[in-house]
Amino acid sequence: MWITNSVEADFFIVFANSDPSKGYKGITAFVVEKSAKGFSIAKKEKKLGIRASSTCVINFDDVEIPKDQLLGEEGQGYKYAIGLLNEGRIGIAAQMTGLALGAWENAAGYVWNDRKQFNQYVGEFQGMQHQLAQAYTEICAARALVYNASRKKEAGLDFVRDAAMAKLYASQVAGRVSGQAIEWMGGMGFVREGIAEKMFRDSKIGAIYEGTSNIQLTTIAKLLQKDYTR
Ligand SMILES: Cc1cc2nc3c(=O)[nH]c(=O)nc-3n(C[C@H](O)[C@H](O)[C@H](O)COP(=O)(O)OP(=O)(O)OC[C@H]3O[C@@H](n4cnc5c(N)ncnc54)[C@H](O)[C@@H]3O)c2cc1C
Repeated sequence: MWITNSVEADFFIVFANSDPSKGYKGITAFVVEKSAKGFSIAKKEKKLGIRASSTCVINFDDVEIPKDQLLGEEGQGYKYAIGLLNEGRIGIAAQMTGLALGAWENAAGYVWNDRKQFNQYVGEFQGMQHQLAQAYTEICAARALVYNASRKKEAGLDFVRDAAMAKLYASQVAGRVSGQAIEWMGGMGFVREGIAEKMFRDSKIGAIYEGTSNIQLTTIAKLLQKDYTR
């Protein structure tokens, strides 16, 4: 279930347990081509957001693949998957930071250039200015977490906790700021004429895929506890 870009993909990396008696150490990665007999896309999901990307249920009905489509080493699938997830979280954090900034810029452009009420731009009211300043500060903090996790990864340092913190925080900021941006734009934020409501819908996925926010918190706490246990 939940396979991103499956409509567009020509082949799939499938993790399957070839020896369940070994638990997670029995998981192996395989390459499965879309044309393989017994492989099919069962259902394309209708989603709240990120609707430009396909997400599908895929079916494996007695699929057989040649031996040379085993990817990497047998039994190393779990390690590969976790490695990909850890790195991928930096990507989601960057995606969410960009979304938050896009939502902020879209709204800032409107409140400081287009919409006037009571003879001034609505963004000039102090109540609005403070919210815009707070949100921008949070976006910059999220971006700093993304850069820090990336820097550590590129330097070959342990970045797992930093990636989890970046993903957790950036998705929270994206949800908060894209929601506020709609309010800042009033009715024009709520309608489908602009992109504000789309960004709000797209922001929700950040707290779900590549590990939910609870899972990020569990990872962060587990690694912190390791460091701080006497
Ligand atoms: C649009 C989309 C695209 C996706 N793309 C892919 C993809 O390409 N490849 C892929 O492999 N997966 C993909 N996923 C799957 C995605 O990673 C999972 O949906 C996600 O990890 C959450 O798992 P779940 O849906 O089973 O939620 P659940 O595990 O059922 O979680 C439900 C709730 O319970 C909480 N919860 C669960 N366990 C715990 C715990 N131990 N402690 C505290 N709280 C907990 C969660 O935080 C959440 O709030 C995609 C999902 C979506 C929606």
